[in-house]
Amino acid sequence: MDERAVVTRFAPSPTGALHLGHAYSAVRAHRLARARGGAFLLRIEDIDGMRSRAAHVAGILDDLRWLGLDWDGPVVFQSARLEAHAAALETLKRRGLVYRCFCTRAEIAGAISAPHGPTAPYPGTCRTIDAASRPGESHAWRIDMARAVAAAGPLDWRDERAGVVRAVPEAQGDVVLARKDVATSYHLAVTVDDAAQGVTDVVRGVDLFDATHVHRLLQALLGLPTPLYDHHPLLVGADGERLAKRRGSPSLASLRAGGVDGRKLAAGLMEDTPPAGFSIART
Ligand code: GLU
Repeated sequence: MDERAVVTRFAPSPTGALHLGHAYSAVRAHRLARARGGAFLLRIEDIDGMRSRAAHVAGILDDLRWLGLDWDGPVVFQSARLEAHAAALETLKRRGLVYRCFCTRAEIAGAISAPHGPTAPYPGTCRTIDAASRPGESHAWRIDMARAVAAAGPLDWRDERAGVVRAVPEAQGDVVLARKDVATSYHLAVTVDDAAQGVTDVVRGVDLFDATHVHRLLQALLGLPTPLYDHHPLLVGADGERLAKRRGSPSLASLRAGGVDGRKLAAGLMEDTPPAGFSIART
């Protein structure tokens, strides 16, 4: 039997209300920790100050309590961890593995604010720009993917479903590691914070599978341990589409307000049985 001390986490972004898909992820992470006598942590990924709302943080805590999912230790707010993210970026700067990107905010936002979305890799416009020619101009920091991959060498990680996965971060291109407006990014923050919190098992939706290629690379470059991953299938609605607020998926808050028993809902999700009208995608 595997006797490792297990530490899992739920890491929502407080940019909207949680829906059943979030509940499924949280239940799975909680179940794994509790089944193994381990810890279940809650991290609020609020680096995007423009889109994060205190009301959503409060809603997340209410939702988890309603589901009967207790967490260990204090809630960690990612916005309080910017120094650690900056230190990691500094390491990459020293190694010459990042470069300044002066491209417009709109272009960058498309590439980083949505960890789930398929976005075309950055074309490398700023890779060869002489930064000295743009003094005082605000900029993001991007990884020089080709150099970083060469520096790290071949990498893999272990996934609960996919088995041993060879990391191919090249496919993601020169991702942003620090934004113009916020001195960090999803990829950098999640990698640094998972390590700092001693997370041993990352449980999250398969929509973040591609991001893990980048996280594995950053772990290697920063000398951080690699957790095990469980990229679980997503919950889908009757239309077979993944849940999203814009598609009218009910928020947990609305289910709660409608009198749904959160603990029963969580017990169902624990058995991979979502409420009527929802199912777990087969892919
Ligand atoms: N904060 C991310 C989100 O809300 C999830 C991060 C992760 O689980 O790695 O989608």
